[in-house]
This record gives sequence, structure tokens and C-alpha cells, in this order.
Amino acid sequence: MTRIIDGNEVADGIRSELESCVETLESAGVTPGLATVLMSDDGASETYVSMKQRACAELGIESVHAELDPTEPTDVLLERIDDLNADPAVHGILVQLPLPDHIDDRAVLERIEPTKDVDGFHPENAGLLVAGEPRFKPCTPHGIQRLLAAADVDTEGKDAVVVGRSNIVGKPMANLLIQKADGGNATTTVCHSRTADLGEKTRQADVVIAAAGYPELIDGSMIGEGATVIDVGVNRVEADTEKGYELVGDVEFESAKAKADAITPVPGGVGPMTIAMLLYNTVKAASIQADVPVSLP
Ligand code: NDP
Repeated sequence: MTRIIDGNEVADGIRSELESCVETLESAGVTPGLATVLMSDDGASETYVSMKQRACAELGIESVHAELDPTEPTDVLLERIDDLNADPAVHGILVQLPLPDHIDDRAVLERIEPTKDVDGFHPENAGLLVAGEPRFKPCTPHGIQRLLAAADVDTEGKDAVVVGRSNIVGKPMANLLIQKADGGNATTTVCHSRTADLGEKTRQADVVIAAAGYPELIDGSMIGEGATVIDVGVNRVEADTEKGYELVGDVEFESAKAKADAITPVPGGVGPMTIAMLLYNTVKAASIQADVPVSLP
């Protein structure tokens, strides 16, 4: 029987363990605060931001929301980030991606004060991760590491294949998998759009992490018997539903499930973990900035 890894259940566990950290901070007079910055008319981005705000409210994290007209220039966004950097009630800053095409993404991510960079995308935090001393692990890869641990998948000595090399998922995921640390020690291959024979790489993997953003790119014929399959993809495909679309992953679920030992569904797999680890990083940021130690889960 293939195990379905339930991201909602694992995320709920982490969120409830974070409650005592928030209580510790509160008793020291610190309410953790997260600023969300939205500069997009895209419905999916708006949904993600409101889900993050709701999750903060449930845990007792204060949300500050900055919404900018998507036609504004980069400088206006940078000024807003400067204000949030200077605000002592804001411990974490999350700029919802993607930003409009005319915005200089790099300049924006580099402007966030590194100790408030709860996404972990600032070069200082990316560097710390590569050096094996992570301050804020990027939320999605960190969430996947926690999912694997919760499913008793020990990555040590295993062959892992990450499909995708973006700065927000693929690269940090590979960096975590090669760390000489718990949840790492995997022999890791990173595939991308120029990989000559993707199926040949994924078939030999004990752990496949699919983060290509391409609907059902990986099917059962590309999965080895008994592998663990983590599907990061969230793709809207046209469908005869009320909304006119449905969400599918980067993995063709049924055929992959027939080969895998364990697999994550979409939705209900990686997505809830991304939000849980954002809460984790926000609590950690508050703890660092207020110099109040907490026992993070
Ligand atoms: P990007 O578009 O930034 O990166 C996609 C990567 O996949 C690129 O490295 C690209 O290669 C590679 N790729 C694309 N097509 C193929 C292919 N046919 N074969 C092999 N590699 C391919 O996407 P993100 O990393 O931002 O996101 C990936 C997916 O994960 C998306 O569906 C996104 O919505 C989802 N996501 C889900 C989250 C969650 O919480 N569940 C959080 C973040 C993302 P190349 O570099 O050569 O172009």
C-alpha cells in the first residue's frame, strides 16, 4: 500500500508546537509580527497572501499588510520595505512573488533586512544555507524536509533527484539535501529544462522532488519502484469546474502512486507545509530580534 503523506496533518503538528513559542515571546512582552507585501492583481497571489495572514492570526502573530499598485516603480516598493525594516513591530517581511515584470526582483529581495527575511531569499541567508549554517531555511524546501522526516524517510545515503533549479525551491532544496546534517546526507542530482533524459534520472532516485511548474510532467514510468515522491507543483489547468480550472501537480498522481512507496498529494501535501514553515521562521525572527530564546519544534 502506497502511503499518502498528509501535509495538513504534519503542518498542524508544527503549528500547534509553535503555540508555546508564541506564548514564551508574549510573556516577554513580544508579539511576533509578519508583514506581507502584495504588488499584483493575480488572484492566486492574493489567495496565498490571505491564507498566510489567516494562519498568522490563528497562531497569535500580528499581520501588517502592504498592498501596492502593480504599476508603481521599483523605488516605491523599496521605500515601503525600508519602512517595514524600520518598524520594530514587524519581525518578518514577506514579498509575495512573482512581482510585475518591470520590478527589479533582486533589488527588492536584497533590500529586506536579513534578520527579517523570513523567506530566506536574501543573498546573506542563501549564503548561510550553502555554508551549512542556515538562519532561515526557505519555507517550501524546509517544509519538504519536515514532511520526509514525518514520513520516516531518512535521506542519508539515498539518491535524491530535484526537478527544478529555481532560487526559491530547487536550489535551496538541493542545498538542504546535501547538508551534512539531519534531513541531508543525500546524493543529490538537480534536473532542469536542459536535462537530456529526465526519466532516466528520476527512475534511479530513492526520493524525487518535482518542482518544475509543469502539469503532470512526471508519470509512473519515470518513478522507480518504492521511491518517495514529493510533488511541489501547483498548476492551474482548464477544467469544467465552477472556477473554470483545477489544481494539478507536477506529478501524474495515479500512475506515480502505483510505483511509489510514499507520495504527497496536490493539494494537501507541500502547500500547507510552506505556510507552517513561514510561521516557524517568523517566530524565529521575533526570537532573534527580541533576544528571547524559544524552543522551536
Ligand atoms: P520556476 O518556474 O521558477 O522554476 C521551474 C524549474 O523547473 C526551472 O529550473 C526549470 O528549468 C525547470 N523545468 C521546467 N520545465 C521543465 C521540464 N520540462 N523538465 C525539467 N525541468 C523543467 O518555478 P518555481 O521553482 O517557483 O516553482 C515550481 C513549482 O512549484 C510551480 O508549480 C509552483 O507553483 C510550485 N510552488 C509550490 C509551492 C508550494 O508551497 N506548494 C511553493 C513554491 C512553488 P530551467 O531553469 O532550465 O528553466
